[in-house]
Amino acid sequence: MTDHGELAAQSVLVCVGPSTQAFLEPLGAVIPVDRVPGLLAVTSPTSAPLRRVVHAPGLHLRPDATGGLLLGAEDVDTLASNSGSPVALGELLLERAARVFPVARQLKVADRRIGVRPMPGDRHTIAGRIPGFTNAWMIATHSGITLGPLLGRLVADEIVRAAPSPVLAPFRPDRFLTSAATA
Ligand SMILES: Cc1cc2nc3c(=O)[nH]c(=O)nc-3n(C[C@H](O)[C@H](O)[C@H](O)COP(=O)(O)OP(=O)(O)OC[C@H]3O[C@@H](n4cnc5c(N)ncnc54)[C@H](O)[C@@H]3O)c2cc1C
Repeated sequence: MTDHGELAAQSVLVCVGPSTQAFLEPLGAVIPVDRVPGLLAVTSPTSAPLRRVVHAPGLHLRPDATGGLLLGAEDVDTLASNSGSPVALGELLLERAARVFPVARQLKVADRRIGVRPMPGDRHTIAGRIPGFTNAWMIATHSGITLGPLLGRLVADEIVRAAPSPVLAPFRPDRFLTSAATA
């Protein structure tokens, strides 16, 4: 069902990110995908642009499309999930950035965004046919930015050309059925 009416399809690919578990449950498929909030702060544009991703102690930073820096940290994600003030947490990230990238001392926090990530139960990508269905597939991953282009191509090959890739073997959704049965 879409906003523009009902579409009939021979095959369906479910890629609804953090909504995966809630979407699949009514269909009887229990695939654990948690919702994990994270906070990213964007700085004002830098005069000396950063050209790579940097993982420093207590901070990861990368170039933002606006010309500023995109800042984040795992412990700050936890604080953001526990109702920490996004403004204060943005300043904390900027303070850490100034320690590892001195140019950041002249910058301000221009924006902060809290996003919700899909996190598979075992933290690894889930990609493949949904257990119990012959014509429905799913992709859920925390690494959608890095892996999206590859996963899209591999799953399209499987759906359209019936060519399953051995690369996806460890990432099939049915691994959760096996662990549930063992437990
Ligand atoms: C803070 C943060 C940090 C991240 N870090 C990384 C990282 O380090 N590396 C990396 O590779 N990626 C990272 N990501 C990306 C993220 O973890 C996911 O991998 C990525 O967003 C998944 O993309 P997606 O298209 O599967 O889902 P989404 O981008 O969440 O898109 C799902 C879409 O489905 C739609 N939808 C939901 N329910 C329904 C429904 N019932 N019907 C129709 N449509 C529906 C939603 O509206 C949405 O448009 C990060 C994201 C955030 C927010």
